[in-house]
Amino acid sequence: MILVLKRGVAGPERTSLQELAVRAGRVCRFVPASDDAVVAILDGGRDRPDPDLAARARLWPGVMAVVEPGEELPLTRAAVGAFAVAPRHGRPVTFGPRDFVWIAGPCSVEDPTMLGEVATAVAAAGATMLRGGAYKPRTSPYSFAGHGREGLLLLERVAQDVGLPVVSEVLDVRDVDFVAQHVDMLQVGARNMQNFPLLSEVGACGRPVLLKRGPASTLDELLAAAEYVLHAGCTSLALCERGVRGFDPNRRNVLDLSIVPALRERTNLPVIVDPSHATGCRSLVLPMAKAAVAAGADGVMVEVHSRPTEALSDPTQALLPADLDELGTALRALVRLEQRALASVQEAVTPDASVRREPAAHDRERTT
Ligand code: PEP
Ligand code: MN
Repeated sequence: MILVLKRGVAGPERTSLQELAVRAGRVCRFVPASDDAVVAILDGGRDRPDPDLAARARLWPGVMAVVEPGEELPLTRAAVGAFAVAPRHGRPVTFGPRDFVWIAGPCSVEDPTMLGEVATAVAAAGATMLRGGAYKPRTSPYSFAGHGREGLLLLERVAQDVGLPVVSEVLDVRDVDFVAQHVDMLQVGARNMQNFPLLSEVGACGRPVLLKRGPASTLDELLAAAEYVLHAGCTSLALCERGVRGFDPNRRNVLDLSIVPALRERTNLPVIVDPSHATGCRSLVLPMAKAAVAAGADGVMVEVHSRPTEALSDPTQALLPADLDELGTALRALVRLEQRALASVQEAVTPDASVRREPAAHDRERTT
């Protein structure tokens, strides 16, 4: 059995937890899990579930999650769900239940002028993170596939100039080290959600990861993909709903917003919603971003371009810089209703394990 504890759990509490384990015929050892959590492994009991011990452990002060043997995705179930993206320059951004993260930027890194214009507008509007793709997954081999290393270095420089941490997609295991050196968070795109070697490689790279849901993947498949990333050692993982394939060509995808509360019943990992790829249409991005807040998302990611008609990828869904103020105002008002704050780089603080979600419904049922 595995218990996830707040890191601050003190010596006497640890001792009494060890005593509880001994009374149940087990041995308890503590292993650091992330910046704000410690895992207690209760060995013994022939690896059988022990509902009585699990119920007692849940009542212990500082216990955030209990994972029983035999659970298929133990790390995804036990994930603490709060972490900081700490940029090499500037201040950290906190993902998790308290702050709402707003990621914005172009689909692709194109040229310094466009990227500079967009990044300046994104920062001025109060967004939390910059995005931009240097390695682009494209359906056709003849489409613009990104500027690769050169684009990534440009993205890094512009992000530093505007003082925002940056997330960018990595497509290939061979590029993971390079991308991890130059961005603050690595994105695994929808089409790579089940690229298992890539999941393991990004999970081991030491940087936070944003994992997008595949366009035809189930909730269980998304969670299993998350387990790969966590299993490789990642302690800072967020999931992203970006729409699934539907039958109606009027919209690019179908935004599956109910997956946000449905995921919440299975994991504490933060869930970000991408209304840009979900709709493929500029006028639909703001309404769906607002709906994402109401559905309980922990953040949104939107695409922005200063001259969408000239965009080298995804022109129809790009917001204009002038749209960002309206989106920021709406997000700020709505997240307040959800008793959260729009994370800002200026206000961001390191994650506080005392600010945590209610136990997942799954856990609540078991304790009653
Ligand atoms: C992206 O976010 O740049 C992207 C390509 O999106 P998706 O993987 O969701 O298609
Ligand atoms: Mn795009």
